[in-house]
Amino acid sequence: VFDMLVVGGGPAGASAAIYSARKGLNTGVVAERFGGQVADTVGIENFISVPYTEGPKLVASLEQHVTEYPVDVMAGQKVKSIEQSELFSITTESGAVLKAKSLVLATGARWRKMNVPGEQEYSGKGVAYCPHCDGPLFKGKKVAVIGGGNSGIEAAIDLANIVEHVTVLEFSDQLRADEVLQRKARSMSNIDIIMQAQTTEVVGDGKSVTGIKYMDRTNNAEHQIELAGIFVQIGLVPNSDFLKGVVELSPRGEIVIDERGETSVPGIYAAGDVTTVPYKQIIIAMGEGAKASLSAFDYLMRLEPK
Ligand code: FAD
Repeated sequence: VFDMLVVGGGPAGASAAIYSARKGLNTGVVAERFGGQVADTVGIENFISVPYTEGPKLVASLEQHVTEYPVDVMAGQKVKSIEQSELFSITTESGAVLKAKSLVLATGARWRKMNVPGEQEYSGKGVAYCPHCDGPLFKGKKVAVIGGGNSGIEAAIDLANIVEHVTVLEFSDQLRADEVLQRKARSMSNIDIIMQAQTTEVVGDGKSVTGIKYMDRTNNAEHQIELAGIFVQIGLVPNSDFLKGVVELSPRGEIVIDERGETSVPGIYAAGDVTTVPYKQIIIAMGEGAKASLSAFDYLMRLEPK
């Protein structure tokens, strides 16, 4: 029986596990893929105190740090369901059943993709998903933002302060962003908004993005814009499907937590991108993981002795 079982091996999960092990708790980590989204990241310039690193390098450091403690890391295991009786019972897709007194859920999220030719090939080479992370790489250049919801229009306003020009491509005939954001975007001289634009292809020169093709849905005409960066802002999907009916989820599927990282179920804590915490970043996920772990420790301390 684990004192604390962490589900997820990204920055939030790794941090939670280290904090738990340092309290002398019997700690396990079950993760589909250790490293999480960080493993897919090229350059990282906002992990404070480390001016530049790369995803795989940070994942290796995370793994090294975790394995300095007696943490049972079960990688390559996807959790399918969670049940509660006297203990929490976690079942993986491979059929293994793990028991724990407390849980930290840190299963992260994934950016919704455009699914057009070139997107995968140029991911990290001009195709980006996080303006806070990659905006400065496009200083003085032209970029597009795909999506006219709140995150798309926020990204456009944010990027317009850094880059030369932003074109927003919105699929439908109206923007879903809040009115105040739309007004702000329209007031900025270096933002253009194109409606009814269906992105069809990311164009590049083999090394990096050089443009984007889209179809005008009103007349099926093809267009191409020359640019250096494409920020895809069509949704961040939390990995929480297996948690429906287990803990309270927000309408967007994020695990609802309080300021201590506690979920709607005593003994279950959550951290990082899968939760309602605003701003999905590595440094935030690590802080949240530490917080959830300390809260779980507090909970365990108060369990009746057996
Ligand atoms: P994740 O990193 O998503 O980790 C989730 C973990 O849970 C993984 O181990 C996964 O395998 C596991 N998991 C999921 N479901 C299950 C399940 N059912 N059972 C078991 N395990 C499961 N942030 C920055 O701060 N700076 C950057 O420069 C930056 N660049 C980015 C670039 C890209 C391309 C992407 C995609 C993201 C970037 N981010 C960046 C965001 C950052 O990576 C995330 O905010 C951070 O990784 C979130 O950490 P997390 O631990 O909450 O989740």
